[in-house]
Amino acid sequence: MNCPKYRTIVIVIMLFHISADKTSAWGFYAHKQINRIAIFTLPPDLFGFYKLHIEFITEHSVNADKRRYAVKEEACRHYLDADHYEQALPFDTIPPFWKDAVAKISEDTLNAYGIVPWYIQLMRVRLVVAFKEKDVKKILKLSSDIGHYIADLHVPLHSTENYDGQLTGQSGIHALWESRLPELYSENYDFFVGRAVFLPDLNAAVWLAFGESFAARDSVLSFEKRMSIKMSPEMKYSLENKGNMQTKQFSKEFCDDYHSSLGGMVERRMRASMLMVGSVWLTAWVDAGQPKLDGIEERQLDDAERQAKIKEELEFLKGKIIGRDEAR
Ligand SMILES: [Zn+2]
Repeated sequence: MNCPKYRTIVIVIMLFHISADKTSAWGFYAHKQINRIAIFTLPPDLFGFYKLHIEFITEHSVNADKRRYAVKEEACRHYLDADHYEQALPFDTIPPFWKDAVAKISEDTLNAYGIVPWYIQLMRVRLVVAFKEKDVKKILKLSSDIGHYIADLHVPLHSTENYDGQLTGQSGIHALWESRLPELYSENYDFFVGRAVFLPDLNAAVWLAFGESFAARDSVLSFEKRMSIKMSPEMKYSLENKGNMQTKQFSKEFCDDYHSSLGGMVERRMRASMLMVGSVWLTAWVDAGQPKLDGIEERQLDDAERQAKIKEELEFLKGKIIGRDEAR
């Protein structure tokens, strides 16, 4: 799965605070919360193992985004521009299974417009193998990454070519929806999301979740547009101190109105992400024959893995993303 076509958008440095969070779907903050709380949806047999590694799973929730600086194949794993293929649900031109999609659409085209629903299923297969092998390092890495991709699957702007409102004069909406809003309001969200469940048909579950994102994309964009027409630019933006820098941000007043116009959408998508992350971990473990995980030892990284990790960190620090830029 290569991504042959790269796109970038212009980041308006003066308007939007640029930090390490800039490339993250959901923002680093929300990704970490989603992976962390997903652990608390697990049944006792799995909870003990995941709880033991809660800091790893939390911190590595954002590694998939960091990898986009080092690995050119990475970008397209985070989204699917479904409106390149069709404008409304149900998806009847996009085959739900990878093999059929490759046969009908071609791998190059699929990679060009994103592959997140299919990639999650490949990762699940790998996680089943890791559980069977009782390979702690792989279980942790794959679990962290699966959490990331499932969270991305739940972001409406990950389902459209107009992913940052760049086609409708709404640049910056991506970071607004998935970073600024969760950072401002998620403290008051209800994250008691219930128990993870076994998913007998992961393909159907993934496409259902993605379909919900796709259905919500118009509201995400049109409500912001409506608010922007109502509010003067002086009210829409405010200057905020970040460290020793002043940055122009969406104002609290604008965020309050936009957030309430969305009627709990950000909270619902975060909750659904958490529950599905736990459910996919659980499903992979059940499919692997429910191996006992108590007391399994962590394997040391081998040389190749260590080198890859160092390269990934260095490229991330250099800060140049390969592929589509901004928050994906
Ligand atoms: Zn991502």
